[in-house]
Amino acid sequence: FANKIQQAISNVSKLQVFNDKEFQKALKNVRDSLIEADANVEIVDELISNVETKMKQVKIPKGVTKTQMFVKLVQDGLTEILGGEGTSDRILSAPQRQKRIMFVGLQGSGKTTTIAKFAKLTLKKFPKARILLVACDTRRPAAIEQLNILGKRVNCETFSGEEGSNAEWVLDRALKYSLEKEFDYILIDTAGRQVIDNDLMNELVLLEKNAKPDEILLVLDAMTGQEAANVARQFATTVRISGAVLTKLDSDTRGGAALSLNSISGCSICFMGTSENLDGLETFYPDRIASRILGMGDIVSLVEKAQENVSEDEVKEMAKRMMEAKFTFEDFLKQLSFVSSMGSLGNMLKMIPGVGNKINSEDIPKMETKLKVAKAIIQSMTNEEKKNPQLFYDDISSKKRIERIRRGSGRSQEEIDDFFKTFKSAQITMKKLGASATGEAGSADSI
Ligand code: GDP
Ligand code: MG
Repeated sequence: FANKIQQAISNVSKLQVFNDKEFQKALKNVRDSLIEADANVEIVDELISNVETKMKQVKIPKGVTKTQMFVKLVQDGLTEILGGEGTSDRILSAPQRQKRIMFVGLQGSGKTTTIAKFAKLTLKKFPKARILLVACDTRRPAAIEQLNILGKRVNCETFSGEEGSNAEWVLDRALKYSLEKEFDYILIDTAGRQVIDNDLMNELVLLEKNAKPDEILLVLDAMTGQEAANVARQFATTVRISGAVLTKLDSDTRGGAALSLNSISGCSICFMGTSENLDGLETFYPDRIASRILGMGDIVSLVEKAQENVSEDEVKEMAKRMMEAKFTFEDFLKQLSFVSSMGSLGNMLKMIPGVGNKINSEDIPKMETKLKVAKAIIQSMTNEEKKNPQLFYDDISSKKRIERIRRGSGRSQEEIDDFFKTFKSAQITMKKLGASATGEAGSADSI
């Protein structure tokens, strides 16, 4: 489904001028292509309006064109609707203790196949992992047999009850057995239905309660399009879904399921089934998928690089000032605003080569929350005071000054004390930062 949006984006990236008319046309093309891919209209409209607002507000870094910025913003928006961070790394991580993963979904969505694929993927990453497949789809003998066969194909043991035993009983036995034999992973297959009904949901709730799974993966058939998102919403209200596996993406030509899933159900995709073969399961990283969809990876990384450079320049500039001059309250305010606009001071420090990894972010006070208070306090200072912090430290009049500011700013004594404490520690941090950023020896290690 990516063709159309790729075409739209590619056309934009070739434009020499990107005036308002072209911008609106580009927005419309992106919108149309997403809707044609069967994405939910409301979600698409939100994405489009986000891109439109951000495009107007964003500071376009040196060396980046408007059209490149546009491509980046569309990709960010896509990443967001595809689920943002992505969770497959966590789900595939090495288990600290026995890890239990339950697979749920409608009949025919691909649960049993996905379990075998997942076992295979896990063994590829951790060849020594001991994986037990548990057949809790006890209703159909064929289902148990299917898991047995698939288990053999991926070299994993399968645990199943005798014919006619119920799912809870099998689960209970399987859990005991797995502890005894020290399995690392327990992959639990469950029964599906053609449609969601109470019976199915009650069984899943019970299995969840008894299995206490670390993760519950919801298996969804991509060929059902937007309906998959509705199914997901219903499952998510009943059991604690940690992520979705979207299967049969090899047959789905549009991708609407992927685009609507997260916003409608709150579930984000963590794996995707891309073939009937047992190695047809891939991790799903929203950012990489978005990049694949748009096919503009180079432009996006160029914009990201340029954006980092802007911040880096600003940080270096500030650090330089720390070295040359004293750190005034005005600088402090600027720093606080800068930090809160950047996300965190930790992020900002990481950008300075050779400094970031030497700083323990826990040592850095949380300045974001202090911005508002600090603003009020600093605004109550005279211009002279703003430029000369020492007036508050070694002058006999400092008590009077502080009292005046406390009243003027309407802040409590506690907040005032905290403000000066934070200021002092920022002063010290910035001094050290200044020393290391400008290459002066010896101080970075001591931070
Ligand atoms: P369950 O009822 O949820 O356990 O579903 P199954 O695992 O039995 O799968 C139902 C059908 O879908 C089988 O024929 C699978 O081979 C097929 N299937 C599952 N995942 C995929 C996939 O990613 N791609 C394709 N093409 N077929 C799949
Ligand atoms: Mg099955």
